[in-house]
Amino acid sequence: MKINKIELFHISIPFAEPYKLSKAYGTLYNAEAVIMKLHTVEGIVGLGEADPLNPFSDDTPATVMVVTRDQLAPHLLGQDPTHISAIETNLDMKVRGNLMARGAINMALFDVVGKANGIPAYMLLGGLHRLKLPLLAPIGSGTPGEDEASIQQLIKDGYRTVMIKMGALPIADEIKRMTSAKARFGDQMSIIIDANQGWTVAETLEFIDGIRGSRPDLLEQPIEHDDVDGLKRIRNRAPCPLSADESVASIREATTLIREQAVDAFSIKVSKNGGLSKAKKIAELAHAFGLKVLMNSMFDFGITQAASLQLGCALPNLLDIGHAYMSVLRMSDDITDFDQNISNGIATIPTGPGLGINLDEDKLQKYTKDYLKIA
Ligand SMILES: [Mg+2]
Repeated sequence: MKINKIELFHISIPFAEPYKLSKAYGTLYNAEAVIMKLHTVEGIVGLGEADPLNPFSDDTPATVMVVTRDQLAPHLLGQDPTHISAIETNLDMKVRGNLMARGAINMALFDVVGKANGIPAYMLLGGLHRLKLPLLAPIGSGTPGEDEASIQQLIKDGYRTVMIKMGALPIADEIKRMTSAKARFGDQMSIIIDANQGWTVAETLEFIDGIRGSRPDLLEQPIEHDDVDGLKRIRNRAPCPLSADESVASIREATTLIREQAVDAFSIKVSKNGGLSKAKKIAELAHAFGLKVLMNSMFDFGITQAASLQLGCALPNLLDIGHAYMSVLRMSDDITDFDQNISNGIATIPTGPGLGINLDEDKLQKYTKDYLKIA
């Protein structure tokens, strides 16, 4: 097989509801992504997706498109897409960083190879460990009363894990949110606290001391992504496992966090981590050192979510809580049929070839605000 054309579509789709995050991110109204079609001479089209969100990532939709056109595509056109490992190694050498653009390419390669052989991508990722995964659902920043109403609705919808976003309010308010949620729902729901880099080390320690017995099941990325020493200090005081999200994009960052014993778990996001090959390596490194993995998401559309589900169902070391496969439900629309894999708080692995989802061409056209063809 041979790659002969790459198409890129910058799409923007409004959230179903505006999403309030930490101080660093503010309130978001639209989800942006770059959708990739990787064409082969044989007529197979692989789908990829990049989900940049500054300041979560260095990348933006525009950088993903330009870097793919100028730096990555020249090393892809004419190549055999089945040589995934060789392509990865070559791009690692030729292009620095840009993990989200890399991720779109890598997902598309797995989709092409799966489709060419009539097998699901999980067969290329080591085979299945499980058929289904429970979902988590995130809730944005709010009052304890708003949290309670949101969590009650989630329980009705079949969810058993909630990710409560913090980092936007004074610590005293966040402590109240935690203790209220734990007292009211602790016996029914696993609770993840994600402060999205919104706190200082001191604020995080204040939170930990303030919640006393109301421990969350996981505390994610309370502080700035590059503060490894801070994470270590927090881990030593935390009453629950500590996970890195923004801190672990590259494989190198994963090795540093493991060596420094800074966290207990990694939030894997297939786009953030540069695609399936790199995300799998990070998960395997974690497994070798006894760390667990949360399959997490950016504001993913169905292609990244499908790639993530293929990997999540193949990994042996996932945390025993819900995982982030509800991203498309937060959007007013999607450009794929991924949502058919979700029901009643559970995601089920699709059996189709490649990533196992279909693209809706009309919707892709409707939501595209910028387009690039590289051949
Ligand atoms: Mg997070």
